[in-house]
Amino acid sequence: MTVENLSNRDKKHLWHPLTQHKLGKPQLPIVKAKGAVLFDEDGNEYIDAIASWYTVMYGHANEQIVSAITQQMQTLDFVMFSGLTHEPAIELSEKLMEILPNNQAKIFFNDNGSTAVEAAIKMAFQFFHNKGEKRDTLIAFEDGFHGDTFGAMSASGLSSYNGPFEEFLLKVERIPVPTEDNLEEIKQLLSQILKKNKCAAFVFEPLVQGAAGMKFHSAKGLNELIEICQEEHILCIADEIMTGFGKTGKNFASDYLENMPDIMCLSKALTAGMFPLSITSCSQAVYNGFLSDEVHKGFFHAHTFSAHPLGCAAALAGIKLLNSPEIVKKRSAINRAHNTYVQEIKSHPKVAEVRVKGVILAIDLNIETERYGNLRDKLYSFFLERGVLLRPLGNTVYVLPPYVIKKGELQKVYEAITEALNTF
Ligand SMILES: *Cc1c(COP(=O)(O)O)cnc(C)c1O
Repeated sequence: MTVENLSNRDKKHLWHPLTQHKLGKPQLPIVKAKGAVLFDEDGNEYIDAIASWYTVMYGHANEQIVSAITQQMQTLDFVMFSGLTHEPAIELSEKLMEILPNNQAKIFFNDNGSTAVEAAIKMAFQFFHNKGEKRDTLIAFEDGFHGDTFGAMSASGLSSYNGPFEEFLLKVERIPVPTEDNLEEIKQLLSQILKKNKCAAFVFEPLVQGAAGMKFHSAKGLNELIEICQEEHILCIADEIMTGFGKTGKNFASDYLENMPDIMCLSKALTAGMFPLSITSCSQAVYNGFLSDEVHKGFFHAHTFSAHPLGCAAALAGIKLLNSPEIVKKRSAINRAHNTYVQEIKSHPKVAEVRVKGVILAIDLNIETERYGNLRDKLYSFFLERGVLLRPLGNTVYVLPPYVIKKGELQKVYEAITEALNTF
C-alpha cells in the first residue's frame, strides 16, 4: 500500500485534532518508530525532534518500557480503581514520592493532561467548599496552556483554542509572567486581584510555557508570586505536564523553586509516551481537606481508566531510566549541544532570540510572517522535506528531542534549522 493510499483512506473517515481540514495538507502516515526516528511507508525517515509532543523521552519503542508493559498486561491487564487497588499503582506512588518535591504526599490518577488539570481545579474549589468557604476565581498566567477540557481551557490564555467558548469558561484573572523588570508591577496586580476576588487557586506552568512558544520566566519571580498566594491560603497548582521528568535539567521545574506547589499535574513523559495516563498529586494538607465523617466531602471524581496498570508499568520503567547514568549523561550532552549551537546562530539576522533550558531549545525567528503566507506551515513542510519533524509554534522553532537522540541526528536537526534561517 502506498503513502497516497493511506492518506486517502485517512481522509475518508478521520477528523484530526488542531486541523482545519479544508486548508490542511494530507496527514503524513507513519508506519514504524524506533529511538528518535519515525518511518513512513516508503521507508523515508524523520527525526522526531520534539519527542512526539515531548512524551517519548526515552525513545520510541524503548525496549525496557515495552517489556515492562508486555509483562504487566500478561499478569494484570486492567481493573477499576475504586474499591480495588494494585501493585503497579502502589509502587508508582512510592517511586514518585522519591522524586517529587517533598511536600507532595498523595497521588490521584487520571488519564490525560487535561483531566489532570481538571481534577486539580476541582480539588481546589472543593477544598474550600468543604470548609464552607465560597471561592470562585482562578488566577493564571497570560498565554498559559493547560488543556482542552472546560476547567483547563479556562486556565489557559485566550486563543483560537478556547476563544469560541469564552462565555462558558470559569472565572479567571490572568497575570503576565514575571520577568526581571516587571516583577513589582505583577506583584501589585496580583495583590489587587486577591483583594477584589475570592480566589481558590493559582494555576501555572512553572518556568516554561510550552504551547506559548517555549517562553521562559524567572524562578525567583514565580517563587514570590507563589508566596503571595500561599499567604492568602490560595492553592498553587503547578502544571508540570510539559516540564516534568527531567526536561528542564531537574526532575521537575518546581525543583527550581523554594515555595512548593500544593498540587501538581503530571502526564506526557510520565509514561514515556507509551500509554495515556496522568496524575494530580497534592500535599497532605489538601488531602486532609477531604477527610470527613460526611461521605460527600470526599472527592467524587473518577475516570474509568484511572491508574491503568499498563500506564503505571510504563511510568515505573520510565522513572527507572530518568536518572540512570546513561540518560543523565545524554541529557547533559543535549544541553551542551544546544548551547554550542546557540553560539553559532545567535547573531544570525533571522534570529530574534534563543533560549536553552535543559533539553529545551527555542529560537524566535525574526522573519516577516506575511512574506511567506503561513510561515509556520511553510517551515513545518521545509523541515519534513529534510527528514526532521519540528512543529514551530508561531514564530518559534523549538527542539525538545528524546533523551536518546544520537549526536549525528541532533546535528541533522540543527543543520535543517540553519538551512531554514538561510532560506526564509
Ligand atoms: C499537553 C499539555 C496539557 C494537556 O494535556 P493533554 O494530554 O493533551 O490533555 C496541559 N498542560 C500542559 C502544560 C501541556 O503541555
